Amino acid sequence: VLELDGIAKRFGSEEVIGDLSLAVRDGEILTLLGPSGCGKTTTLRLIAGLEKPNAGHVRLQDETVAGDGRFVPPEERGVGVVFQDFALFPHLTAHENVAFGLQEWADAERDARVDELLELVGLADHGEDYPDELSGGQQQRIALARSLAPEPEMLLLDEPFSNLDVDLRVEMREEVRRIIKETGVTAISVTHDQEEALSISDRVAVMNDGDIEQIDTPQQVFQQPESRFVAGFLGHAS
Ligand code: ATP
Repeated sequence: VLELDGIAKRFGSEEVIGDLSLAVRDGEILTLLGPSGCGKTTTLRLIAGLEKPNAGHVRLQDETVAGDGRFVPPEERGVGVVFQDFALFPHLTAHENVAFGLQEWADAERDARVDELLELVGLADHGEDYPDELSGGQQQRIALARSLAPEPEMLLLDEPFSNLDVDLRVEMREEVRRIIKETGVTAISVTHDQEEALSISDRVAVMNDGDIEQIDTPQQVFQQPESRFVAGFLGHAS
């Protein structure tokens, strides 16, 4: 579905991503895991089209969306993004928030799609609520429903649980995984929290200083770290 090939990204003279390559499989949940400042969010933004790489290619469904002088803007990439703070529109109801990306759809289809999504995220009875009437977990469900509504090829989640309190985080990890798996969408999430990465992902890419150190199943990464960095970051003695 997605391929990053030899990506480099600089901000001024600071090189944040050196030479990053990554292939994401159809339908998987892949998590970019690493310490603060290692370039996770920048990688996500490069995929979304919110940043342009200085070198390398981004390919989505075999189409080059960045590189070789081409640059496809975010709204044409078929990628949904769930932001850290959920970014719901406070003056719109839950139903209207979910409908936001469906303005081109016919009314009846749009309403049916929104109802389907509200059902999927377990909030069928909350369509008329405004965001400030919803709990943190419910707001996250609506944000997820909104991103999934236009049937994106891929879903990007930037630190999706950091705004939730600890108890809710554990519950929502399972829920977010269930919802993503029910839709079958390919998802990439970003976190510095290893427990989160291990619990929601099919594969984990451990990042350090703008590069991927190891990419593997959660179990493999945890049990057989391939470098001192990975072992250290996951809390093993090396
Ligand atoms: P965090 O978890 O703290 O967000 P991260 O791994 O997601 O960390 P990035 O946000 O990708 O890391 O940032 C990597 C580096 O790039 C940091 O040193 C950051 O200061 C720098 N950086 C990111 N965006 C910009 C920007 N727009 N302009 C300048 N520097 C930036």
